[in-house]
Amino acid sequence: MNGTSPLDRIRVVLSHTSHPGNIGAAARAMKTMGLSRLYLVAPRHFPDPEAEARASGASDLLAAAVVCRTLEQALADTVFAAGLSARRRDLSLPVCWAREGAARLVQRGRSDEVALVFGNETSGLTNEELSLCHLPVMIPTNPDYSSLNLGAAVQLMCYELRLAVAAPGAAPASELPLATGEEVEGLYAHLERCALASGFLDPSQPKRLMLRFRRLFARTALEREEVSILRGLLASFERPKLRKKS
Ligand code: SAH
Repeated sequence: MNGTSPLDRIRVVLSHTSHPGNIGAAARAMKTMGLSRLYLVAPRHFPDPEAEARASGASDLLAAAVVCRTLEQALADTVFAAGLSARRRDLSLPVCWAREGAARLVQRGRSDEVALVFGNETSGLTNEELSLCHLPVMIPTNPDYSSLNLGAAVQLMCYELRLAVAAPGAAPASELPLATGEEVEGLYAHLERCALASGFLDPSQPKRLMLRFRRLFARTALEREEVSILRGLLASFERPKLRKKS
């Protein structure tokens, strides 16, 4: 996609939404701020008349919404994802506030596909869903009552994105192509395979180590070529070449 604004490369992903009215409210919130790309991961009810009613004049976004079975699918061709969470989690990456999160998304969105991911109304994003994101983002709120309505959270973040696009002096994006979500997932699967085969990874407890790897790599902006190098290295461990003795 070759949009003229970073907003064209930012998709809003709503995961496991229970109430179709919130999907409509999110579409309306997006359109008012100039965003248009809505992805829905396993929504409980969609399409739905309640979504249409709450979208008001933004039903074009609902008509174009992409429905996916898993969050992995919704992020497959993205290079960067911010996960919105109202609470801090164990072992998560350092959290950043909404304004900085929006600035970082816009910076990446100048050259690449990026995503803003929202969780279910009751349970929020699962830890597994958050582990597919590179940046946990919180909207500053009253610590004793921190959970916003989903549509309101989408509205605030889209507003911050609009402000961030207008802000001058955003740092230029990387020159080299970044790895997509699908490519990075391929690297994690390869790492896990090798670590199991070598005996480094305890097969009864694979999750924790893999979460640590995700946390490590999510702090960097992995380039496509770096993923290839790492996978080449792993492949060389799997099939060591016989070296001639000199
Ligand atoms: N009870 C859930 C909140 C669900 S609200 C929880 O504790 O996580 C639905 C979604 O709106 C959340 O998954 C999150 O994506 C977003 N959201 C609501 N309040 C937020 C906040 N203060 N900061 C960041 N995201 C928030």
